[in-house]
Amino acid sequence: MNNTTTSARVDLRSDTVTRPTAGMREAMTQALVGDDVYGDDPSVNELQEKVAKMLGFEAALFMSTGTQSNLCGILSHCQRGDEYIVGQMAHCYRWEGGGAAVFGSVQPQPLTQQADGSLLLQDIEAAIKPDDAHFAKTTLLCLENTWGGKVLPQSYLNEFSSFAKQKGLARHLDGARLFNAAAAQAAALGTSAYDEVKNITQCFDSVSVCFSKGLGAPMGSALCGSKEFIAKAHRLRKMAGGGLRQAGFMAAAASYALDHHVTRLEQDHQLMSHLAQGLAGIPGLQIETPQTNILFVDLVGDAKARGVALQAHLKNEGIDMNGLYRLRFVTHLDVDRAGVDRAIAVIRQFFGA
Ligand SMILES: *Cc1c(COP(=O)(O)O)cnc(C)c1O
Repeated sequence: MNNTTTSARVDLRSDTVTRPTAGMREAMTQALVGDDVYGDDPSVNELQEKVAKMLGFEAALFMSTGTQSNLCGILSHCQRGDEYIVGQMAHCYRWEGGGAAVFGSVQPQPLTQQADGSLLLQDIEAAIKPDDAHFAKTTLLCLENTWGGKVLPQSYLNEFSSFAKQKGLARHLDGARLFNAAAAQAAALGTSAYDEVKNITQCFDSVSVCFSKGLGAPMGSALCGSKEFIAKAHRLRKMAGGGLRQAGFMAAAASYALDHHVTRLEQDHQLMSHLAQGLAGIPGLQIETPQTNILFVDLVGDAKARGVALQAHLKNEGIDMNGLYRLRFVTHLDVDRAGVDRAIAVIRQFFGA
C-alpha cells in the first residue's frame, strides 16, 4: 500500500513528504464535491463532522495548512491587545512568522519549555498579567503535542486543563501530530488511539490537527472547537484567504487518512525505535529515545566537526535527513524497514562503527 518502491531514496526529512497511497487516490477521485464557500461540498462537510466527532468537539473547519489553522484559532480566542502564553520553541510562536501578532495584534508571551515540551504551571502563573492598564490582557494558553516527537503526559494535560479553567484562560492545542501522541499513548496503555485522542483533546477548548503529516494526506488541517468558536474562525479563514471551492478532493484524502492511517502510526513509531537502536553505541552520536516518529541525534565531541561530511555522505548514498549537528530523522508512510536498515548501515559505515 505504500509508495516506497516508487523512490530509490530513503527520505527521512519529514512526515510531510508522503504521497497519497493508492486507496487515498481512489477516495480522492471518487469524492463528491461542491463549492465549499457556499457550504456545498459534501466531502468537506463529511470530514468536518467526522473530525469534530473523533476529537469530541461540536464543530470543525477544514483549513489549508496547520499555520492557517493555528492563526485562525488564536485570533478566534483573542482580541487585539490580548496575549497568548506559549512555549519558546512552540510552532505557533516561533515557526509561523509571528502571524498572530502581524495579522491579529495579539502579543505572544513565550516561556521556556521543559525538556518534555511542557510549560511549568508556576511559570505560567508568574507570566499571567494582572488586570492593569500597563499590560496586555492574558487570554489564552497554547500547548503543542507532540512537540519534537515527544508526548505530553496525560497527567500533565489534566493538571494544565484544571489550572487554565481556574484562571479563566482558554486552552488551545497545536496538535499537528495529535494522532502520533494518541497512538503512542495507546501503545503504552494497551488502549485504542481513537480513545486516547479524546483523552487528550478533552483538556482543550480548541485543537488544530494536521492531515498532511503522519496521516499522509497531500494537504490540509482541521480546527476544532465549539460552534460559536468555529463560526468566528470561519470568518477569519475567509480573511486569511482560506475559503476554498471544490476542496472535497482534499477533504476526501483527509477523511480516508482518519479511517485508515491512524492505527498504522504505531508502525512508524516502532520503525523509529528500530532506527534509534540501530544507531546506538556509535561513538560521537548522542541519541534521544524516540517516543513517536521523530528522532534527534546530536553530534558530540570529535563527531561534531564531521556534520557536513556526514550529510554529504548520506545524500550521496540516497538517504535524506535534516540538520548538521543536531540531526532529525522522521519515519512515515513512505519509509519501510529496508529503508531504515539502509540508513543505519550507511551511517555506521561513515563512522566505521
Ligand atoms: C507542521 C506543523 C504546523 C504547521 O503546519 P503547516 O501545514 O506546515 O502550516 C504547526 N504546528 C506543528 C507542531 C507542526 O509540526
